[in-house]
Amino acid sequence: MNQRTFPRIHRRESPPVMRGRTGYRNAEPYLRRDFGYRCAYCGVHEQMKGGRQAFCIDHFKPRSRGGPVNDYTNLYWVCIPCNMIKHDKWPTREQLHRGYRFADPCREQDGGVHFVESDRGLLQPLTPCGEYHVSTLRLNRAWLQQHRRARIHKWSRLNEADQLRKELECVVEVRPADDATQIMHRLLSFLSQEIEALRSELAVDIPWIPTQAL
Ligand SMILES: [Zn+2]
Repeated sequence: MNQRTFPRIHRRESPPVMRGRTGYRNAEPYLRRDFGYRCAYCGVHEQMKGGRQAFCIDHFKPRSRGGPVNDYTNLYWVCIPCNMIKHDKWPTREQLHRGYRFADPCREQDGGVHFVESDRGLLQPLTPCGEYHVSTLRLNRAWLQQHRRARIHKWSRLNEADQLRKELECVVEVRPADDATQIMHRLLSFLSQEIEALRSELAVDIPWIPTQAL
C-alpha cells in the first residue's frame, strides 16, 4: 500500500469483551500499544508529556452523539488537553456534507493528506477535513507549536553534527598518527556519543508516521 495513504495507527488484537459504563477502561494497555504511546490527535508521545497519567481514553464519536461506549474501534488513546478540547464536539450534518469532520488516524492518513507541518511548527490544513480537525482540536495551540519548533531545531542540529562527524572522519583518516590526531579521535568519539543520544531522544518524537514504521 502507498505510504502516503497509510493510516498512522493500526489496531492489533482487540481486548476481551468490555461491558458496562466503564468496561472500555480495560482497553488501556491495548490502546497504548496500538497508538504507539502517542496522542491520536496531536501526535505527542507520553514521554514528552509526563507519562501515562497525562493521557486518557477518548471516544472518537462521543457517547453523547451516539458513539458506542465499549467498541474498541471507537476508543482512542489521547493526551488530556486534546480530550478536554475535543469533549463532545462532532460535526453537524451540514458540516459533514461539506467535508468538515475529524481526520481519523486509524482509517486514513492524516498528516501529509489533510494537513502538513510547516518548518515553523504550524499545522496547515489542506482539506476541509484538515481545517475542521486542526481548528476544532486547536492543534496549533502555543505549547504544541513550541514543542514542534524545538523538535525541528533539534533535528537540524543533529543533521549538522552528523555532517561534521563525516567530514572529521575523512580528515582523520589521512593524517599521521600524532598528538593532534589523537585529540581528533577523542573528539570524534565524543561527537558520535552525543549524536546517538540526541537521535534516541528524538526517536520517540517522530510525528505523523505510521507506528509500525518506527
Ligand atoms: Zn494530544
